[in-house]
Amino acid sequence: MIWFMDWAASSRAAYLPLAALLVTPALAAATEKPQLTLITNVNIFDGKNDTLAMDQDVLVEGNLIKTIGKGLKANNGAAVIDGGGRTLMPGLIDGHAHVAINAHFGTVETDMELPDLAINSVRVMERFLMDGFTSVRDMGGPVFATKRAIDSGRIVGPRLYPSGAFVSQTSGHGDFRDRADAGYTRQARGDLSNFERFGIGNVADGVPEVLRAVRLNLRLGATQIKIMAGGGGSSRFDPIDTTQYSKAEVCAAVEAAKDWGTYVGAHVFNDRSVNRLLDCGVKSFEHAFFISEETMKRIAKEGGFVVPQMWGISPDLARNPLMPAAKIPEVKALGQQYKDFGLNLLKNNVKVVFASDYVGVDADAERARRYELWWRTQTFDSTFEVLKQLTSTGGELLALSGPRNPYKAGKLGVVEEGAYADLLLVDGNPLKDIKLIGGTDKWFDADPEYKPIETIRLIMKDGKVYKNTLN
Ligand SMILES: [Zn+2]
Repeated sequence: MIWFMDWAASSRAAYLPLAALLVTPALAAATEKPQLTLITNVNIFDGKNDTLAMDQDVLVEGNLIKTIGKGLKANNGAAVIDGGGRTLMPGLIDGHAHVAINAHFGTVETDMELPDLAINSVRVMERFLMDGFTSVRDMGGPVFATKRAIDSGRIVGPRLYPSGAFVSQTSGHGDFRDRADAGYTRQARGDLSNFERFGIGNVADGVPEVLRAVRLNLRLGATQIKIMAGGGGSSRFDPIDTTQYSKAEVCAAVEAAKDWGTYVGAHVFNDRSVNRLLDCGVKSFEHAFFISEETMKRIAKEGGFVVPQMWGISPDLARNPLMPAAKIPEVKALGQQYKDFGLNLLKNNVKVVFASDYVGVDADAERARRYELWWRTQTFDSTFEVLKQLTSTGGELLALSGPRNPYKAGKLGVVEEGAYADLLLVDGNPLKDIKLIGGTDKWFDADPEYKPIETIRLIMKDGKVYKNTLN
């Protein structure tokens, strides 16, 4: 009893100063004026329209776009940035990346500790932002700490939407245990892979294990859930044509995510798997390369998004060092068979989001991302379409996180009044040339050294300038 009273007294004593701390910044914010920035003389790509709005000025108040118009005045001590007739556009959105799987898979298993991944992700995040990406949806990996560090200003990077550990069945695309590690009986489940130890993936079978895996991610702050619902390219024990997770398991994951106000995205390739996912209410279809137009129509009708890294069906994929040699002939044949995938998605009104599937050693992954920008303009036959996927459609996908969306004060991926001030200022018109925002037709031939994109002159995220080479 004495112990209890002591505890109660000391905990109350500790509580009061904490409450005072919580109140003070809010009062300060109410009296302090938000910072104003006026960006003058720009042509705006707003993320939605295929023409530029010419000769505009944009007033940023705090972290939001306050006013857009001609001849705005720099009142109230606004800082002025002369846009010099350049293009102002929304910051870019990567709908599917793995910023913490920043080493080759074999290296993750044999030669890394969790802090290696975390330390590397600091550089990965900075380079994402310096390449103009102001929001990234991470589709598997231990990035919660990275997100906290970015949001609190301790490191520099984009807004991060974490999934946490991807959830996979035994022998699924997220089962990276070595050949003998899983054991042969249910009693001998065997060793974990580093993928599991580090929180990159979670092997879970049956409804109770799937529910626990999903809830562990939600507990840590996942903005959406990622499951593996079909065969993969980089995993060794799941042929590409396989369907993974029973309907009961998928529906359980979706229900648990819905109960938290959010949704499930699934790694998937084929019709059989996509239709099972649709039956359960999955909203985001990752990759989905090998689906029929009939399935595309169903995705469009039910409000789903397809988030493919189009380099996955590019002829250059066969040169990707991450691809197991045994899978290359199969991948090549499928790429050829589904080469109209991009155009068919557009024909069937599917919402498509840009995705790099950023994974592996940073220089390789950055080159793949820049190659993806260019390769998309080829497969969708439209630079505007790709810019829309990178901006407004990406923003719509991020908003699916609903109450779990960490950034609810404005829209992302558009330049409009009330939207977040996540903005790029670019030399020239990206609607005419994707290379102005980093697109490249060279992938493995490219210089492995990281080079800044010189034509992106200004990068603003949340109203703050992170790059400015105008002066
Ligand atoms: Zn992925």
